[in-house]
Amino acid sequence: MEYVSTRGNAPVLDFEGVTLAGLASDGGLYLPREWPRFSEDQIRALRGKPYWAVAVEVMKPFVGDCLTEDELTKLCTEVYGEFSHAAVTPLIQLDEQHWLLELFHGPTLAFKDIALQMLGRLFETFLERRGERLTIVGATSGDTGSAAIRAVAGLDRVEIFMLHPHGKVSDVQRRQMTTVLAPNVHNIAIDGSFDDAQRHVKRMFGDAAVNGPVGGPLQLGAVNSINWSRLMAQVVYYFYSALQLGAPDRKVAYSVPTGNFGDVFAGYVAAQMGLPVETLIVATNVNDILRRAITSGDYSAGEVTPTITPSMDIQVSSNFERLLFDCGGRDGAALGDQMRGFDGANAMQLSNAQRDGMKALFVSYSADQEQTSRAMQWAYQAGGQIIDPHTAVGLSAARDALEEASLDEVVPIVTLATAHPAKFRDAVERATGVRPSLPARVGDLFGREESYAELAGDYETAREFVLSNSAFSSATASA
Ligand SMILES: *Cc1c(COP(=O)(O)O)cnc(C)c1O
Repeated sequence: MEYVSTRGNAPVLDFEGVTLAGLASDGGLYLPREWPRFSEDQIRALRGKPYWAVAVEVMKPFVGDCLTEDELTKLCTEVYGEFSHAAVTPLIQLDEQHWLLELFHGPTLAFKDIALQMLGRLFETFLERRGERLTIVGATSGDTGSAAIRAVAGLDRVEIFMLHPHGKVSDVQRRQMTTVLAPNVHNIAIDGSFDDAQRHVKRMFGDAAVNGPVGGPLQLGAVNSINWSRLMAQVVYYFYSALQLGAPDRKVAYSVPTGNFGDVFAGYVAAQMGLPVETLIVATNVNDILRRAITSGDYSAGEVTPTITPSMDIQVSSNFERLLFDCGGRDGAALGDQMRGFDGANAMQLSNAQRDGMKALFVSYSADQEQTSRAMQWAYQAGGQIIDPHTAVGLSAARDALEEASLDEVVPIVTLATAHPAKFRDAVERATGVRPSLPARVGDLFGREESYAELAGDYETAREFVLSNSAFSSATASA
């Protein structure tokens, strides 16, 4: 499988290459040159298989020759064997039509473990093969950071610098990052927003004083969902859940609590591969740039408003560029111009082709704090389920979509349950009166020592910190 950049001006890479590169050198994001297609019979043949086996089949065409089937099988059985639920991503029925897909049975209680546990293993495999080392710089609004740190802590060939907005992640989220004391883990709290942190990370990739390919001393890698491998791993649970609900003979709709547009883009990929997805509901909180883009073509970023769903407090969604590329006719040069225009103006109008391309599959609804709380209450009353606020934004959007007849009345609607409620227990308790307890597998999170640096919000300070604390200089980068 060959991968191309959304901006059309970066080298074509294979799966190993895109896994290690993260962002493309032209500032774009990598995508497969074409979507693999599964026939109905091929999809039907996946019914009843365990999660790891569905994972092998779904990932195989994307991985191409970069892993043998035995290597891929070993990775999938090991990674998904460590989840705390035997079904890995169990489906829970709420009422006749609404379902929850629980994606939080990994080590850090959010869906990001599903892809990042796999990505950590892929890094290890490919770096070992090449005799290289990788410095991961990432930005997190909470859940990516902890999942990425858990995925790479203690690895020999990887170090990680994780930036989070100081004071803007929950205590559980912060402690899941800062109590991992492995020497290859560096936590940084910056005085700024998630978008500031993400901008710094993107800038380091293009900075000749930092990144190897443009002249710097370090080989940088990405764990944000700009990394294609993460999206690939997320495609699996769309297949796995739809099969249980009758695919390929029955359509399924998904409601996806959305921030960086990675999770819902994986649903789009599943649909391109032949899974009968009726609709993808892009659920946002009041930071609703995506809802405006999808409903009216107006993609203009404002200030980030902090909410009870911090993992979705994002204005600029990196992966949306992948959708614009694929829906807009895959014209990298034109998209590069469009995105550079957006970077300058913080606003752009989608083209007609882009809007028409997404109309067939996407609708979008937003939930404010009141609606989010009401959805938590409804899940508890109607289905006996305590859900986290991010999941509640998804459920609220799912119910709105049904009410406004954006959906066929009989398809099952699966809301992705993206975090365990104990991760956001103050908001859950306020809405439902129930204080969810942390699962035993998390251990004594509040009894452990924390370690992190507090830095000013400017780019240069973050860069200096990375350069002076990295254990991998160019001299040792290819040991
Ligand atoms: C990351 C995250 C999201 C948003 O996912 P994207 O792939 O960035 O759209 C939603 N909910 C939770 C709990 C998350 O951690």
